[in-house]
Formats: sequence, structure tokens, C-alpha cells
Amino acid sequence: MAKLALLSVSDKTGIVEFASQLTDRGFKVISTGGTLKTLLDAGVAATAVEDVTGFPEMLDGRVKTLHPRIHAGILAKRDDPEHMAKLAEHHIDPIDVICVNLYPFKETIQKDGVTDAEAIEQIDIGGPSMLRAAAKNFRDVTVITDQADYASFIEKFDNGTADEAYRRELSAKVFRQTAAYDALIASYMTTEEFPEKLTLTYEKVEDMRYGENSHQKAAYYKEPIPDTYSLANATQLHGKALSYNNLRDADAALRMIADFDKPAVVALKHMNPCGIGVSDSLLSAWNLAYESDPISIFGGIIALNRKVDLATAEKMHALFLEIIIAPAFDDDAYAVLAKKKNLRLLTLDFGKVKVDHKDTVTVLGGALYQEADTAHETISDFKVVSETQPTEAQLAALEFGQTVVKHVKSNAIVVTTDHQTLGVGAGQMNRIDSVKIAIDKAKDKPGFADAIVASDAFFPMDDCVEFAAQNGIKAVVEPGGSIKDQQSIDKANEYGIALVFTGVRHFKH
Ligand code: 5GP
Repeated sequence: MAKLALLSVSDKTGIVEFASQLTDRGFKVISTGGTLKTLLDAGVAATAVEDVTGFPEMLDGRVKTLHPRIHAGILAKRDDPEHMAKLAEHHIDPIDVICVNLYPFKETIQKDGVTDAEAIEQIDIGGPSMLRAAAKNFRDVTVITDQADYASFIEKFDNGTADEAYRRELSAKVFRQTAAYDALIASYMTTEEFPEKLTLTYEKVEDMRYGENSHQKAAYYKEPIPDTYSLANATQLHGKALSYNNLRDADAALRMIADFDKPAVVALKHMNPCGIGVSDSLLSAWNLAYESDPISIFGGIIALNRKVDLATAEKMHALFLEIIIAPAFDDDAYAVLAKKKNLRLLTLDFGKVKVDHKDTVTVLGGALYQEADTAHETISDFKVVSETQPTEAQLAALEFGQTVVKHVKSNAIVVTTDHQTLGVGAGQMNRIDSVKIAIDKAKDKPGFADAIVASDAFFPMDDCVEFAAQNGIKAVVEPGGSIKDQQSIDKANEYGIALVFTGVRHFKH
């Protein structure tokens, strides 16, 4: 009896060649409507599924292969006499090869203006059923869903290595595929923000040379449909592949620069900003970001929110940098920057800047899933709690500082003007140390006379306000909320400086 192969594919790429290779090797091919037509039109012999089931395809194709003659043919255990006797009793032929790819659900839901009905119609039912049946019975059945496996199967068939181990690999691939397919359907259908089962699914972009350190293996995965404003949709124009740390840093840089509308430059190291400048031109924003901390920027990641011009490119070219991300590069700017072989140059669509995404972090034994911190306080959210009122200029600086500080690892303190960071104190285990670091970095800089202090969380004691005031700071912004708030307020009044509460904490761990 000829071996049977059932071919039913939405994406017909390569199917004619594969089918003819199968028939050349003695397989009898069975096929569903569209696939059958493709094969017959190309002159490959094939039988309609309807002729096997004795039933017409019906309900607009919703029912084609969902029939015991197909599923028993796939699921029968060949070494089980009772199974084989049942097949014989019902004149069912065992099916040896299943080749299926599914309705294009992902492509469909990405189409502009797609209706719910159109999306739902693209939920494949019979295809996953056959794939799962064949994958379950991998000891006897070869299941192929990836076009890349057409050639490898033929090669292995020819050299006699299409064995059970190979079929098990194909089976695992199928369960990954159907799980990912269903995960996407689940997320499309789900309205709960935090459902009882989290069905996130990711697709591999690439294996990486290593992870956070060279002894850690790693791979990069993206969402099936990533937001436009994401690294998954960035284009790398030049330079070495992005490393694990590069990707995390670049992502942090994108989140930071998203908070600025005017020409802005973010320079970042280890996911903390080392310099942020905002101005009327990109070049002057660059100068501000650079002058924030000309030492730390070495080996930094730079994000710019305007097309990079030659003058700015020449400034950047003078430094050792890891990555530059921008909406675009002028040709002459690109030519200058591309002289550095390793420098990674990326472009990204800044048209739909959006970071209201849910973030997942893993913990041992689980994951935490939360909304991104998109809260963004402006002057109208500020509550002045000191006797001294901040000036207009100080309010603008407090707003800038408040915008920056939420992007700094806690305990976070920044010293800024209204357009430039002067000192960043990040990741200290107590707040006063962050204050000291930030002020120490800022105090000799030209803009310091107008500088303010911003804090990501409340001051637990009055020492932070006191240290700032003693070092010449005239205005401070913090969320407030400590049981010792009054002591910080008293301290501000004692020194005659302005203290402003936002009511919103921005921890970043
Ligand atoms: P064709 O283009 O050959 O008519 O259809 C191929 C597609 O139909 C494949 O994507 C396959 O997964 C899907 N398919 C096969 N059997 C069934 C079935 O019984 N119901 C549904 N809804 N889809 C099926």
C-alpha cells in the first residue's frame, strides 16, 4: 500500500515542489481544496480529501478535514493490533505524513480596518487539529509545519535518517507553533488586563553571542506584533550586532527620549541617563547632554529624537560610543559615523512614540507583569509645600528634573536645570548618598546656580533637603508621603528654599 501524505497549506510557497518530491518517492498525496487546486494546476497528482472522507468540504471551509477517516488515519498506533484492526474494519488508510500551515491569523489582525468577523474566520480549526494529532502520534507520523522542513525531510527520507528522533523534533516544533498560534488568538480575544493565564508568546529574532556576561547563553525574542516604537521594529543601518546589554540599554534610551518633544539627546550608561539635553536644535541638545557628564558618556548609548545632521554627527564621531538611535541620519552625517566599523547605527519610527506597554520581569518561579510607568507630572501637578514659592524658571527646572528622575534607577536623585542634567545619583541603597553623588557631580558645572533637585521617592528624613540647601540648591521636587514630610518642609523653610510635592512616586528597580 502506498504511503499517504496529507497536504493542506494556506501559504502555498514550495508546496508544489515538495508534493512532487513526495510523489516521486511513492507517496500518494491527499489535499484540501485550495492546495489540491495548486497541485493539480502544476501537474502534480493528488486526491481530494473529500474523496477520502466521502464528505464534501462544508461551511465555507470550516469543516474540511475534521473527519474520523482523517483523524483515525493519523492517530492509529501502528504497533497496536486493535488500532490497526479498527482501521481495517472501517477501510481507513493510515496517513504517514501531515504537512499543514495555518490560516494567517497574525497577518489578518494586522491589516488596516480588519473586522472582528474577518479575524475570527482566520482562526484555523482543522489545521491545528491535524497538526496536534500527528504531533501526538510522532512515533508513527511525520508532521511538518515549517516550510524550511520540506527540504530537510526529503533529504533525511533519502538518506534513511527520518527516524523517530527526527519526528519527535518535528512534533515539538508543531506544539510550539500551535501554542504560539493559540496564544495570539487568546490575546486577541482577551479583554482582561491581567487574565488568570498569561499567554505571552515571543518569536526568536536571533541567538546572541552571549547574555549579560560572556559565560551566559542568550537569545533575543520579539513579540509577534511589536509596537512600531520598539527595538523590534528598529532598522540597524551599520555596526556590530546588538548585544544583550545593548538591547536593554537601547530600550531604556527609547523610553527616556519618548518623554521629550523638543530636540533632545539622551546619553545613557547601564540603563541610567548620564546626560540629557533639550534645546532648540539637535546640536545644542547634544552639547548639553555631552557636557552633563563628559566622562561617563564614554562607551555610551545615544538616542536623539531628530534626524542627525552633520555637525552633531561630527561631535559624536569624536567619541567612543556603542549605539546611536535616531529617526534618521542625513547622508553626510551617516558617512561620518559609519567610519567607525563597530558603532551601531539604528533608525526607528518616532512617528508613533508609545511606551504604554506592559512590562514583564521574571522572578524565581514566576513573573511579574505590570503597566509601564507612563505617569508624567507637569507644573500643574505640583503642590508647593514650603513658605518660599518657586520662581517660574525653577518650576520649569523642577518639571524637567521630574521628567528625568523617573528614568533613573532608585534611589534616584537628579540635579538639573530646565534643559540639562547636571548630576545623576542612581541606584544607591540610601537616598542621602544619591543626593550627595548628584550634587557632587553637578556643583562645578556652569548651570549649577539655577539647578534644582528632583527625587524619585519621598525623603525619609530631613537630611536630603538640608544637604541640598547647604550646597546652594534653591528648589526641590519629591513625591512627599513620608511620615516625616513635615521635617523636610521645616528644613526647606529654615533655609528659605522651595519644596514641591508631586504625590507620585517613580521607583525604578
Ligand atoms: P486550502 O487552501 O487547501 O483549501 O486550505 C488549507 C488550509 O485549511 C490550511 O491552512 C489548513 O490548516 C486549513 N484546514 C484544513 N482542514 C480544515 C478544517 O477542517 N477546518 C478549517 N477551518 N481549516 C482547515
